[in-house]
Amino acid sequence: MTKNLFYKKENAWKGYSEKEKKVVMNYAEQYKAFLQICRTERITVQYMKNESKKHSFGKGKKFVINNSNKAVALVSLGTISPLKGIKFVGSHIDVPRIDVKQNPLYEKFDLAQLKTHYYGGIKKYQWFNRPLGIFGVILTRTGKKIEVRIGEKDSDPVFVISDLLPHLSKDQGGKTVSKAFDGEKLNVIFGSIPLSGKEKDSIKANILNILNKKYGIIEEDFISAELEVVPIDKVRDIGMDRGLIGGYGHDDRVCSYASATALFDSKNKYTAVSVMFDKEETGSDGKTGANGRFIEDVIIEILEKSNIKPTFANVRKVMNNSEMLSADVSCGVNPDYPEVHDIKNAAIIGNGIAIVKFAGSRGKAGTNDANAEFVNKIRNIFNKSGVVWQSAELGKVDQGGGGTIAKFMAQHGIDVLDCGPALLGMHSPFEIVSKADLYETYKAYREFFISM
Ligand code: MN
Ligand code: MN
Repeated sequence: MTKNLFYKKENAWKGYSEKEKKVVMNYAEQYKAFLQICRTERITVQYMKNESKKHSFGKGKKFVINNSNKAVALVSLGTISPLKGIKFVGSHIDVPRIDVKQNPLYEKFDLAQLKTHYYGGIKKYQWFNRPLGIFGVILTRTGKKIEVRIGEKDSDPVFVISDLLPHLSKDQGGKTVSKAFDGEKLNVIFGSIPLSGKEKDSIKANILNILNKKYGIIEEDFISAELEVVPIDKVRDIGMDRGLIGGYGHDDRVCSYASATALFDSKNKYTAVSVMFDKEETGSDGKTGANGRFIEDVIIEILEKSNIKPTFANVRKVMNNSEMLSADVSCGVNPDYPEVHDIKNAAIIGNGIAIVKFAGSRGKAGTNDANAEFVNKIRNIFNKSGVVWQSAELGKVDQGGGGTIAKFMAQHGIDVLDCGPALLGMHSPFEIVSKADLYETYKAYREFFISM
C-alpha cells in the first residue's frame, strides 16, 4: 500500500522480456545507421525526404515540407479536422560543431590551415587532436552547388585541430579551462605540401590547385559556402552489454529519428507532424530556426491541403488547439559528477524518456514551463501505454541551464512539453545515449501521435 504512494523511477531494462530486448536492440541498430550518415542538418533533411518516401509520403494525405534544405516537416493528415488541433513532435537537426570561416585559408610555418568559428556550446578542448571531416556546400561564382563530404570513407583524408604538447603547456595549464582555449586558435590543418616553383604561399597555392581540380572552385567561392567540421568517428555500442550508443549528434538527431519513425508507424486520427528545426544550438534564430515563421507555413499548408481557408483566424485556431512535444535531449547523471544535479529531480540513464516541465536558468528565466494540465495529460498517455518515463530538470538551481525550442512554439499558443532521452557527455564529439531510453522515446512519441 505505502509502496504505491511513492514516486519511483525504474530502469526500463528491468521491465523488458527477452523478446522486447531484441526489439530494443534492433531499433538501436537502425538508429545507428541513420546517425552514421547524418552528419549535418542538410544531410538529415535529405535522409528524411528519402526515408519518408518509403513510407508513402508525397502521396495524398502524407507530405513533406522543406525549408531551405535545413529544416523539414513530415506531415500525416488525420481524419479529424486540423482546426481541432495538430499533434506536433518538434526536434532540431543542427548539432554543435566547428564552422569554416568565409575567408578561411592561410599558410603559416609551412602548414595550410582553415580558420573556423565554432557553432553552439562546445567545450573547445574536446575537439583537439581527433579525426574530423568536412561536410557542407559551396556555391560557386558560376551558380553551381557543390556538395562536400570529406572524411566519411576510410580512404578519405581527415582534418585535425592540433593542441599543444604537455611538455610545453605550463602557461596553458595555469589558465582556467574557459581561458586556456582560444576560439581563434581552433584552426584546422588542411595541407602541408608546397607547390613546386612557387616561393610565397606555396602550400596554400597547392591546396587551391587541388580544390580547383576537384571542385572547380577559386578562393572567393569559400565566401558563399557552408562547411562544417565534424567528428567522423564510427557510431559504436558502449559497454560489454552493449546497452549504450556512442556517437556524434544524439543532441538532437536522436529525437528527430525517434519522431520520424514514430510518425511512420502511427495510424493517427489527429493530424500528426514531425517537425525538425535548424539553429536551435545558436538560439533558434534565422529562417530555419524555431523562432522563425516556418511553423506558420506548415499550418497554412496543412489547412490548404485539407481544403480549409488559411485565414488568420483559422491559423490561430489550429495553434490554440495544438499540442507539441518539444523533443530534445536532457542530461543524465554522470556518476562522477552527481554534485551538479538535484538527484531527486535528475534524469537517470536507462530510466526512460525524461519529461522536463521547465528549462531555462537563473530562476526559470527563458523557459516555456509547461502547464500542469498538459504535463498531466502527457503523463497519463505514457502511463496508459506503458512508456517508461521519468521527470527531470537539467541541473541544480543556478548551476547553469539551457533552452529548447519549447518557448518559441508556446508563444504561438501551442501547449508544449519538453521530453526526450537523457545523454551523457552532451555537446561532446562522442555523446552517449541508452538504447532503452532511445526506444522508450520512440514509443512515447508514437503514443502521443495517436493519442486522443
Ligand atoms: Mn538539443
Ligand atoms: Mn544542445
